[in-house]
Amino acid sequence: MQRDIELWKNPQGLTEDERLIVKRNLGFFVTADSLAANNIVLGTYRHITAPECRQYLLRQAFEEAIHTHAYQYIVESLGLNEAEIFNAYHEIKSIRDKDEFLIPFIEVLTDPAFKTGTMDADQQLLKSLIVFSCIMEGLFFYVGFVQILAMGRQNKMTGASEQYQYILRDESMHCNFGIDLVNTVKMENPHLWTPEFREEIRVLMKKGVDLEYAYAEDTMPRGVLGLNAPMFKEYLRFIANRRCQQIGIDPLFDKADNPFPWMAEMIDLKKEKNFFETRVIEYQTGGALSWD
Ligand code: FE
Repeated sequence: MQRDIELWKNPQGLTEDERLIVKRNLGFFVTADSLAANNIVLGTYRHITAPECRQYLLRQAFEEAIHTHAYQYIVESLGLNEAEIFNAYHEIKSIRDKDEFLIPFIEVLTDPAFKTGTMDADQQLLKSLIVFSCIMEGLFFYVGFVQILAMGRQNKMTGASEQYQYILRDESMHCNFGIDLVNTVKMENPHLWTPEFREEIRVLMKKGVDLEYAYAEDTMPRGVLGLNAPMFKEYLRFIANRRCQQIGIDPLFDKADNPFPWMAEMIDLKKEKNFFETRVIEYQTGGALSWD
């Protein structure tokens, strides 16, 4: 984080708009990953009993904890106002609105009285799984990821950006696992997938796109880093269509292309391989260490 700290502390290092992005971003993510962790440990894990799924959920929960730690580490390294960042989830409307949208779907699964086994309860479970994987992990994280990774591509906040790359790698796996889970529940219980249910999912996906777009506008009141809010409108439509297609729902939007093709490279990057390849360069070797 050393270069990031120098850049952040230098008054000319970043524009106000760039600083706003970083602060809003951490404000959203630092609590979003704890919501995700609660959802897994206190909710999903109780209802999904297949052992291979539970093994993955444990891994996912561990990764969410690492993500929260990474965000906290960035906040502390930069010396940001912790009260401001950690309270963003209820003080910043665009962040609060996203969280408030999610919470009812998480509460269904964490409610100790909730039990599956009826048509209604099973549809509620399926709906919560879809909201969590396709809207939370599959949509609500993406404006934030693009913003910080775009900074890294311009050689700004490269330490934070590298940590976000690892997190994006994990999150795209979480999203894929969630989609596999949804599709398996659907396959085993085809009676849940009624036309009314599918319509309800489409309405929720649209609402998710609106909320994430409001967040894009709020974090980028003006164009910054070669990005602007309207580009995100297209991007969110592209992602929403893709999520719908992944769970077998008709696309929501007529035409939507990906304005950020470089994001696909970031997601597909075999980061674990790169990590070991770059390690010898990035760390000092034993022979080069100076011993006083
Ligand atoms: Fe996740």
